[in-house]
Amino acid sequence: MKTAIITVGKEVLTGKTINTNLATISRRLNEIGIDVNRSIVIDDIKEEYYSILDFCDSDLIIFTGGLGPTVDDITRETVIDYFKVETYLDKNILKDIKNYFGRINVKMEDTNDKQAYFPKNSIIINNELGTAPGVIFKADDKTIVLFPGPPHEMIPMLEELIKYLKKELDIKLYSKGFKLVGIGESTIEKALTGFYDKHPLVNVAPYASIGEIKYVFTSSNKEKLEETMNDFYSKFGEFIYGDLDDTLEGIIVQKLIDKKMIISTAESCTAGQLAHMITKVSGSSEIFKEGFITYSYEAKSKYLNVLQDSLVKYGAVSNEVANEMAIGLAKETLADIAVSITGIAGPTGDTPDKPIGLTYFGLTHNGVTKTFKKIFNGNREMVRTRATIYALNLIRKELF
Ligand code: ATP
Ligand code: MG
Repeated sequence: MKTAIITVGKEVLTGKTINTNLATISRRLNEIGIDVNRSIVIDDIKEEYYSILDFCDSDLIIFTGGLGPTVDDITRETVIDYFKVETYLDKNILKDIKNYFGRINVKMEDTNDKQAYFPKNSIIINNELGTAPGVIFKADDKTIVLFPGPPHEMIPMLEELIKYLKKELDIKLYSKGFKLVGIGESTIEKALTGFYDKHPLVNVAPYASIGEIKYVFTSSNKEKLEETMNDFYSKFGEFIYGDLDDTLEGIIVQKLIDKKMIISTAESCTAGQLAHMITKVSGSSEIFKEGFITYSYEAKSKYLNVLQDSLVKYGAVSNEVANEMAIGLAKETLADIAVSITGIAGPTGDTPDKPIGLTYFGLTHNGVTKTFKKIFNGNREMVRTRATIYALNLIRKELF
């Protein structure tokens, strides 16, 4: 459906007000598969409305601004006059307008009565946060929508319009998504150059959180949705661990259960966060028997058999110690997979050659131990969370 947004107001024309209403409405309509193909900003004088409406052949025309009860707000009466639709006086709204003038201590002119006239068969959208209600009506085979200018008033009303349009156009929206780990939003977005243009009928939205990101795909066209998701999968499949209902720890625990494998953990800087994530999942007792928090040198030696020499020579945050932690853990617990983490969460504890965020991981699987090194950004909590998610992703890559 051809859709136009007409923004009314001198303040927008002069640049005093940035036209955020256009962006808000356009994006929201796009999410339900309606593309805005025209947008115009006009001064609030009658001739401007008329010439724009003469020119505008859109099926859906949305006005914002100039809907208030004062003399300079002429959108409602001008658009109604233009389309010559029959009107009726809404007594409740008239009362509201009278109250408004009472509150601001201004005598209400009789001419203001006309503010309470609405097209017959129009849908009135209450304005909880201001005086002027929104209106949806039909004229000349077009759907006309009038919204007030202030964004905080307009936005809740926009949701009512979305509901109306979905029903009216029988729009059925399909929404699905992917969850990714081990890749950042900026890397994905760089690799998606041209992707959005290639799939115009699908809305693709990223939602990033610490260490993970999800992409949600929405469309009214089921085939296009699948096509777009397949295209996305072909680019990022190795980082995709599941759909929107999945959790990283959930899919790992399930896989371990399926494979009848036992996992154990030895954590320094994350102090149990990895064990916590695994055991958050119901059923994890089948695959998780024990984990160690070895925060000190002594604990690393005592429980995991890390050599005193290695600790002194390389430091607790080192490849060698992560390696020995994983080997010692596997030996001690006889787990199929043993994972170790040792790092500097900050904000103190860094040295010239060991920055904050530096973290080493060890993973022993079937007697073979691999180590990994990573430097994480962020504050103490973020480094710990990122390290935990990184470890979960190492486990995922080992299992899948
Ligand atoms: P009011 O009852 O507040 O007068 P109105 O519907 O008549 O509502 P306008 O007078 O056109 O709205 O605009 C009121 C205020 O709303 C503007 O000063 C501006 O701050 C904001 N506004 C108007 N149009 C836009 C827009 N397109 N984008 C963002 N803000 C806007
Ligand atoms: Mg106004």
